[in-house]
Amino acid sequence: MNLDPFASALIALLASAAMSAGLFAAAVRQPEELARPQRIWARAIVLAPAGWLLLEWAQDLPSLAVPGKTLIVASFVEYLRALLASRGRMPDSPWFAAPVCLVAVASAIMLFTQPGLPMRTGMLSLLCAGIAASTAVVALHGGRTRRGGNAGIVAIAFLLCAGVMAARGLLLFMPEGSAARTWIDQPWVETLMLGGAMLAPAVASLGFVLMGSERLLERLEGIASTDSLTGLLTRHAFLQRAEALLAAPGYRGAALLVLDLDHFKQINDGHGHDTGDQALRLVAGAMRQQLRAGDLLGRHGGEEFTVFLPSTGAAEAEVLAETLRAAVSHIGLLADGEALHLKVSIGLSVLGPDERDLGGLLKRADEAMYAAKRGGRDQVRVHPGGQA
Ligand code: GH3
Ligand code: MG
Ligand code: MG
Repeated sequence: MNLDPFASALIALLASAAMSAGLFAAAVRQPEELARPQRIWARAIVLAPAGWLLLEWAQDLPSLAVPGKTLIVASFVEYLRALLASRGRMPDSPWFAAPVCLVAVASAIMLFTQPGLPMRTGMLSLLCAGIAASTAVVALHGGRTRRGGNAGIVAIAFLLCAGVMAARGLLLFMPEGSAARTWIDQPWVETLMLGGAMLAPAVASLGFVLMGSERLLERLEGIASTDSLTGLLTRHAFLQRAEALLAAPGYRGAALLVLDLDHFKQINDGHGHDTGDQALRLVAGAMRQQLRAGDLLGRHGGEEFTVFLPSTGAAEAEVLAETLRAAVSHIGLLADGEALHLKVSIGLSVLGPDERDLGGLLKRADEAMYAAKRGGRDQVRVHPGGQA
């Protein structure tokens, strides 16, 4: 096979440079948490083929092998750093420079001590294989989001790369003149192996960029579904999840509570909005402690909360509602030297196993809550339409 190594490396460098420029340009419009890993990745893409080109050039000018090898290992380190950065880890440890410095110094020493020998020891390949394998592990652990197989694409690319580099490294340890060594010393084998290993991660660039977008989307979804003051579900997220539970195959009825703090305006008026905010946070925390895994707790708006209790009948739900009422009344909140007594009115409504009308359930629980207000507040009322 006739595969010119130098031309192959040059073409790889040009293609990679174009891809890198595209990623750099795209990073300009991204939020910094996406842009930073993307810039590091874009750098990694050009470093490897640049190093490969220098290695090919080093056939005529041996000293070029030193920067060539250094660039290749730097590229693998940058890929690893890019993935760590995309997971929000600070990839700034000086240890990342260690393999780069090691390769630079070791190859410089080799150049001066054994100037007659080609610098193909296999050590660089094994080192890069190790870093690539670590990168694959980082991609799979935590880089994976709910949606995507994109982390898998990145991991496979790096595993392939690690495999090729490890094989190359081990083969180069074979004695000169052995069959394996003769095979790997053919220019086309060398070009395919090095080229494949240098370009496999670059091919996974799309997977990497999509991983970032997936994570950002999940972050935004998290922000949209979490009430910033209390950390509870927002109204939208609460309703969405309650609907999902109603539609789930294992649905066996549900109960819903609407809770509204009593005379809350007085707290704001008497002690300021900050104290009111603190009260809301304490109420949210106290209620969360009483609920079971699987129950939904949302802030419906203002000082009104909702609780969705899957597979819960009226009697059990009433006990839970009483527990919540008591928990709120036991909150200790001191403001301006005064102990504030928080109270809550709770409306309860129940859906049978064959009913799935969330809107009606909410309306009835709301009516029951207003009945609790009219009845003197600080109490639980069950909507008469509710089923046991
Ligand atoms: P009731 O017993 O009838 O429910 O009386 P209330 O005072 O609790 O009800 P009202 O609807 O008159 O007042 C609710 C107050 O809740 C008014 C509003 O300022 C306050 N509020 C709503 N959202 C927030 C918030 O995020 N922080 C604070 N501090 N106050 C809020
Ligand atoms: Mg109120
Ligand atoms: Mg209210």
